[in-house]
Amino acid sequence: MRNTVVCAAIEKDRCYICTECGGCKISDITKLIRKLNYRDLYIVKGGRAIEKIIREQKPEAIVGIACFFEGNQAFKMLKDENVAVQFVPLTKDGCATTDTDLTEVEKVLKYAVCSESNLKR
Ligand code: SF4
Repeated sequence: MRNTVVCAAIEKDRCYICTECGGCKISDITKLIRKLNYRDLYIVKGGRAIEKIIREQKPEAIVGIACFFEGNQAFKMLKDENVAVQFVPLTKDGCATTDTDLTEVEKVLKYAVCSESNLKR
């Protein structure tokens, strides 16, 4: 989803660190993640990075935004892990210039936060 023409994100390992230049929707998603108090946001270069993040960060739940193929791969990878997973499919997939529906992303991010709060009661 990065706008590679203007993107100022910093590459680190298998991830990008968004500088919130406003050049793509990742900037909006980053603001939303912060507002909803999510612990972390990872912009990964591919699905394999997820394994490493899960091993290192041991999250209880994750929300992924990806194409159907990568989303399906992530579900398979996490089926034996004790991690709750929500997924927002891309509206335009491919290897570059992908897109997502921000309204849908916001809905799922808010729903996941509510679900986690209810589980802790
Ligand atoms: S908002 Fe972040 S990811 Fe998007 S183009 Fe700017 S620096 Fe790159």
